[in-house]
Amino acid sequence: MTFKNITCPFCGLACDDLTVSAKQNKLDILAGQCTLNRAGFNQALWEKTSTAMMQGKEIAHATAIDKAASLLKKSEAPLIGGLITDVNGVRTAMALADACGAVIDHQDSQAIFRNTRVLQDTGWMTTTLTEVRNRADLVIMIGSQVLDDYPRFFERIIQPKPQFRKKPRQIILLGSWDGRKIPAELKGDNTTVIKTPMESVAEVIAALRATLAERVLDNNQFGGMNSSAIQELAFQLKESQYSVFTWSAKEFDMPHSELVIEQLVELIKDLNTTTRSSGLPLGGSNGSISANQVCTWQSGIPLRSSFAQGQPQHDALLFDSQRLLKNAEADLLLWVSSLRSDQPPPDTDIPTIAIGHPATQFKRLPEIFIPVGIPGIDHTGHTFRMDGVVTLPLHKLRETSLLSAADVLSQLTARIS
Ligand code: SF4
Repeated sequence: MTFKNITCPFCGLACDDLTVSAKQNKLDILAGQCTLNRAGFNQALWEKTSTAMMQGKEIAHATAIDKAASLLKKSEAPLIGGLITDVNGVRTAMALADACGAVIDHQDSQAIFRNTRVLQDTGWMTTTLTEVRNRADLVIMIGSQVLDDYPRFFERIIQPKPQFRKKPRQIILLGSWDGRKIPAELKGDNTTVIKTPMESVAEVIAALRATLAERVLDNNQFGGMNSSAIQELAFQLKESQYSVFTWSAKEFDMPHSELVIEQLVELIKDLNTTTRSSGLPLGGSNGSISANQVCTWQSGIPLRSSFAQGQPQHDALLFDSQRLLKNAEADLLLWVSSLRSDQPPPDTDIPTIAIGHPATQFKRLPEIFIPVGIPGIDHTGHTFRMDGVVTLPLHKLRETSLLSAADVLSQLTARIS
């Protein structure tokens, strides 16, 4: 059977133009293939087990639910982590957190919170993928891993001719491209490459802000750019009718990186006094945007939240799952990863319940493992796009006996309530 206009769940772009053929348990991507979805669809074929396990030994599903519920009931400080799943998976994980007084956090919240802190502190002006594709005449892509993490970003968003612009779009690649090969699709007459280590991006942004404010620069080098290059870029930004800055918080892996993002957000605000400019934070790998959006709409607060006091409480430092595990402040980990088999629970000494991809490659066998279907392959669902403005439907492409993560989490909630 051939499925058309299928949504891909494997990164935050949520491309909805895939054609997939499903025959005798084989899945072939006939259109819309990329490195990430090829890996995701291949992992779906590695299904090792559809049977629940207790410390590596097969057990009946009902027994696994009983044992997991009993561990949750006994726990005084449960942690629900991973959340590498679809919208329904996160909704039901929230309900379970509420029922058992757990902390809830996503695996990639480190990167999420570099952005969230800025949004909470100063607000920001951001745009959507559609706006970028149709209206942006200048796109400044900060970082160098965009095509590793979002392989079809250029093809889907940057390459198409803008619907409302006559002149070709100008592209500036600003990031640590030293020693990295620039992908062929990013090369071209309209592309300028500025090689700057990520640690120096703040310098470039500060120099641009100073130049736009007509201040005199008392230095000649800013993150590998000289002052005339800074002036040229500032002029280009002022002349542009709609510039867009893209960045991936994951690439700002350095202390106080939220201050760099804050500078960038302020530059965008400065530009809006005379022209139009917006930001486009790139994210959503491993379902992180779905997790944060669902958490916010269900509870009014973002991830890194606790239900231990009977109502949701958010604290970005206190309820950081990595910190809780490192400091032994959680006594049970319930890990959800139905999208990826290569994202097992972290190696920890506390008892672990894993609700995950059937081919999960564990570093340490969990107490209980309940294999579940992959959203967008084994069952229907929804995923949030990286710009957070739309959810896209995920489709079921094959028959399986596996339940969804949402089904299993609902069973657990019912069992302990
Ligand atoms: S770019 Fe992302 S969403 Fe699009 S097909 Fe590739 S993995 Fe899927």
